[in-house]
Amino acid sequence: MALTPMMRQYQEIKTSHQDALLMFRLGDFYELFFDDAVTASRELDITLTGRDAGEAGRIPMCGVPYHAVEQYLERLIDKGYRVAICDQVEDPKAAKGLVQREVVRIVTPGTALSKEQSNRFLAAIGCVGSHYGLAMVDVGTGEVFAGEAGEVECARQLQLWEPIEIVAVKGQIPNWLDDFIAETGTLLTYRPSGRIDVIQTQYSVASSAVLGIGENTATAVAVANVLQYIQETQKMTLRHLQEPRPLFEQTHLVLNQTAMHHLELTATARDGSRKGSLLGLLDATVTAAGGRMLRAWLERPLCQIDAISERHEAVDALVNDLIVREEVREALRGVHDLARLVARFAFNSGNARDLLALANSLANGQSVVDALSAAKLPPLLQNLLARLPNVKRLVDGITQQIVDDPPVQTREGGLFREGVDDELDRLRTLQSSGRTWLRDLEQQERERTGIKSLKIGYNKVFGYYIEVSKTHSANVPGEYERRQTLANAERFVLPELKARETEILSAEERAMAKEYELFQVFRERVLEYGGQIRVWADVLAEIDVLQSLAHVATERRFVRPEMKLEAGIQITGGRHPVVEMLTPGRFVPNDTVLDPQQHMIVLTGPNMGGKSTYMRQTAIIVIMAQMGGFVPAESATVGIVDQIFARIGAADDLGRGQSTFMVEMIELAEILRQSTGRSLVLLDEIGRGTSTYDGLSIAEAVLEELSIREEKPLTMFATHYHELIQFSAQFERVRNYSMAVEETRDGITFLHTVVTRPSDRSYGIQVARLAGLPQQVVARAAELLRARETTGPALDEVAVTGEDRPAKQDERGSVSEAPEVREKEGALALFDGPYRSFAEMVAQM
Ligand code: ADP
Repeated sequence: MALTPMMRQYQEIKTSHQDALLMFRLGDFYELFFDDAVTASRELDITLTGRDAGEAGRIPMCGVPYHAVEQYLERLIDKGYRVAICDQVEDPKAAKGLVQREVVRIVTPGTALSKEQSNRFLAAIGCVGSHYGLAMVDVGTGEVFAGEAGEVECARQLQLWEPIEIVAVKGQIPNWLDDFIAETGTLLTYRPSGRIDVIQTQYSVASSAVLGIGENTATAVAVANVLQYIQETQKMTLRHLQEPRPLFEQTHLVLNQTAMHHLELTATARDGSRKGSLLGLLDATVTAAGGRMLRAWLERPLCQIDAISERHEAVDALVNDLIVREEVREALRGVHDLARLVARFAFNSGNARDLLALANSLANGQSVVDALSAAKLPPLLQNLLARLPNVKRLVDGITQQIVDDPPVQTREGGLFREGVDDELDRLRTLQSSGRTWLRDLEQQERERTGIKSLKIGYNKVFGYYIEVSKTHSANVPGEYERRQTLANAERFVLPELKARETEILSAEERAMAKEYELFQVFRERVLEYGGQIRVWADVLAEIDVLQSLAHVATERRFVRPEMKLEAGIQITGGRHPVVEMLTPGRFVPNDTVLDPQQHMIVLTGPNMGGKSTYMRQTAIIVIMAQMGGFVPAESATVGIVDQIFARIGAADDLGRGQSTFMVEMIELAEILRQSTGRSLVLLDEIGRGTSTYDGLSIAEAVLEELSIREEKPLTMFATHYHELIQFSAQFERVRNYSMAVEETRDGITFLHTVVTRPSDRSYGIQVARLAGLPQQVVARAAELLRARETTGPALDEVAVTGEDRPAKQDERGSVSEAPEVREKEGALALFDGPYRSFAEMVAQM
């Protein structure tokens, strides 16, 4: 026996969708067969059944109800699957023999509209010779970015954008892409190279060169690949996609993945959550689009002094005008995600509620503009408002035509107000006179038959009928025709009822069809207004980011930084905003001075002393300043920084399958190669992953290299090697600082103050005691240490003599002096800190 005809049809379709799960419409279900069924039943936790398929015997099958398919799709793409949706493309009733079926769309992680508010990028690689281009698209917002660059830069961009799916051509996979996929497990989709003319069709241009991406460049190929893939999966052109913007802007402060990770900019290093990250603290945006933009500003701070100062000025204006700021925040609360709304219409899934949401958002956007116009505006805000196109006609059109509370469905009527369309009004009158007629008929029949409970009802099978309860059956007139008998009632029809029914029903049907038609016109208009709405979306998002920066600056006492062109950072009373929030009232501000005259700080002090917090806060202040925000300090002057490298703390990259030491050395190599005299470099305990002498030698060599070469980056170098203190003393522009510690009878207290002299000891044993190491172990360690110190050239020889070092570092007044006398709150403070348990403490060390 051969395969059943339907299974043959299935097989045929499946052959061209090997890399997707195929959902095959059968009646009210989408069914999956063979391996697809096994996979789906496992991933979706639905029952695996079987089906007789002819010669193949019983094959695995599982299915989901068609009306709930979206929720299952979402779960599958979240797990990284592609799903091809195969529908019946002719009316099964009209079909002769087997119903025709076709794949109507392919749902993939990168091409699906997601409910998430953050960006979700689909990437494509383009290859021309040995050049590679990258394109990124967020179909949810319509943003498109593209460009080409060298390997390192391409790899960096992939890490930065974290695409959820990557399209590439088989056999054209560069190493950096291979590495990225291996590391992240991102879904890789192979497709043949895209035709360049998809670009021309998508953007209605004669040549892709018009878009600034060249004609046969790797960038253009990448864009063609991504557009072709979107068309292929959606089976249509998505009209909301914007023209590509440059992916590689040279003008940004470069932060690599390691720096972002160690500085906890958008996620904490410990568990990757947003809460507890800098972004979590800085985000007081009101709209989803504002939230996305704030994140982009934080990840890509600026380097042009004018653009940065413009933002500072705008934030300043909003800081100083609480009333306007509150009005702006209030109005922004009514602004929906405009980009996503337009995307819904482009995907043909918007409804009348979306139309209203769009109109209300634009109206609220106008209130934002009105609120701002009341104030004297700095240039940036003026320019933003000047960009806004007029969308009043669209807004008025929607609010005047769509009812206040429209239904979700677009095909069942009830969307439009009266007076919008003559034909619709006429059909509605017909419908309502029909209803009046029915009510009259009901009344008349009650009177005629004397049956008070007689009523007229409707169902899909019989249309309109008259229902009479069985107790009154005897009184039913002869001309009633019985159609249905229920438990306690009987249903009848009358010739005059049937005659009128067609008219009523057809009026209703035609009214619904008319409304759907009118709605489609609106949908078209929204897409025509797409560009204008986009500008509103961008401008409102930027205003949201600026108000958010101002709001947080006020709440957290941030100040406007001064920007300068020359390299160098001067911070007075700097704070780490996140640590400060976690230690309210107890955070100790510190100064930082780094400039060509003292370009390096070697920082010593015990674990838990506050070294990494101090280094991090310096970088964070620079980033916040260059993103256009105010900074947590008493005052700050920041010379534009081009790159920040940060390797701090014990966050090991286990996932990469490389040893900590190897990872550290790779990063160190990158820092030494790429840093310039404008870069900020933060190094924490370089060389700790190998033997002491190895590590020390490497640390010394790095310190030396950074101190003698032409381009000396601003560097903060935290170390446990006290030998480095002596070594670094030979370099005139290197300072030796430490985190102050107060010793008391019972142990030590961390003062968290940076002092302008090196630390004299490691205090390892004291910290161990603080952490709760058993008393006998602490005592024994102390004994061993004493023995080592007396018997000879111990490793921390320098530490012992450290205090006698010439005080050349002490002269600069910008860093606070060691607090010689401190109130004896020390012993108390030991137990007062945030780390109470051994485990918590160790987790921090
Ligand atoms: P280290 O890098 O020297 O081991 P950390 O910078 O990790 O130390 O700081 C340890 C803890 O000390 C932080 O988690 C924080 O609670 C506290 N701390 C650090 N710096 C300060 C400060 N300036 N003021 C108050 N508390 C601080």
